[in-house]
Amino acid sequence: MPYRPDRRLISVEEARAILSVHGEPVTRVERLALDAVDQRVLARHLVAAHDVPRFARAMMDGYAVRATDTAGATGEQPARLRLVETIYSGHAPAAHVVAGMCAGIATGAPMPAGADAVVMIEHTARTDDGVSVFQAVASRQNVGRAGSDLVAGEIAVAEGTVLSPARLGVVAALGLDQVDVYQRPRVAILSTGDEIVAPGGSLGPAQIFDSNTAALSAAVRLHGGEPVVAPRVGDDRKALAPAFEQCLDEDLVLFSGGTSVGERDFLLEIIAAAGTVHFEGLRLKPGKPTVFATVAGRPVFGMPGNPVSCLTNAYLLVAPLLRRLAHLPAATERTVLARLARDVESPAGRHQIYPVRVDGAAAVPVFKGSGEITSLAHADGYFEIPADVESVNAGTVVEVTLF
Ligand code: AMP
Ligand code: MG
Repeated sequence: MPYRPDRRLISVEEARAILSVHGEPVTRVERLALDAVDQRVLARHLVAAHDVPRFARAMMDGYAVRATDTAGATGEQPARLRLVETIYSGHAPAAHVVAGMCAGIATGAPMPAGADAVVMIEHTARTDDGVSVFQAVASRQNVGRAGSDLVAGEIAVAEGTVLSPARLGVVAALGLDQVDVYQRPRVAILSTGDEIVAPGGSLGPAQIFDSNTAALSAAVRLHGGEPVVAPRVGDDRKALAPAFEQCLDEDLVLFSGGTSVGERDFLLEIIAAAGTVHFEGLRLKPGKPTVFATVAGRPVFGMPGNPVSCLTNAYLLVAPLLRRLAHLPAATERTVLARLARDVESPAGRHQIYPVRVDGAAAVPVFKGSGEITSLAHADGYFEIPADVESVNAGTVVEVTLF
């Protein structure tokens, strides 16, 4: 007899609360080259081994001077200084700037000893034997100090930080070409069903192509996971059991299909026998037959086979848990307000996720059905209809969460 639970349905909020206490962030670390760690999460503090920059440097092209030598300088009464050398970027100064002297200097070049300010080239003129300075500068003016960016010993990038472009710039500024990052959580994806054929294959008369594996894999990558796709399995208890076992090697398991209460929906039965089922259905449309369990310490989702239900719940429920395993912060939701273009109905007692296309100020409903993946593909986002609301009229301003 297949397992036929008297399904207790819970709300999305209850489901989220349950999910928030299951699954541990991945502790495995890998060392990767700088060009391979975009958006990865740093696994150890990066401490500055030296000041950045190591030397005080000119912030302008001009002349390195002793500020006191320029006191009172104006266009009419310039300070006249003798030029001892010119310092280019990447070259160490040789001379010491003493009273009445200056050195030509390029932006980024090290300040010579004795000089404490830089006069912009625009405020000077070359003379036969030196330089006329037309404006006084204060001590330290136009000079960047050593350690202005980072001081030796300081935490430059903290453990747990996502390596954004700017943070990768910091890593590089420290001279590192490799960093330790957390491994991405490995996410087993197993699509089940006699009717499912991998894209590229040929369809029998009663078959459809598997859209869930591709959509789930992409959603997993988007939220910091590494999809590990298992070979598809038919609705056959004997074949499902070992395939299920295999998936438990990974950090998170996503099954699709077979979670309904049909004659051949064996997944819930197999999951229930192997571990603890935390919920087995949601008061949600689409996405009702969604199962969550822990088996051998692994979080396991039984996702609905219907592609819209499957992907919606990947966003709503899987992504937050996956991001936690990946040490990533919660995704930032982007929302827009738009006016509903048509009346929509929603079943009583079920929270609905309603896909819409945003067309200027209008939210155009595009939901065809839970089985039609174009319901999502043609949408820019969705708005939510609470369980106790059965219709929303055209013209209502709705908050659309963008994909
Ligand atoms: P199930 O959850 O197995 O009861 O399947 C519900 C519906 O989703 C059925 O119409 C299935 O044919 C369809 N379905 C199941 N798995 C997939 C898949 N991987 N890709 C596309 N459709 C699927
Ligand atoms: Mg099925």
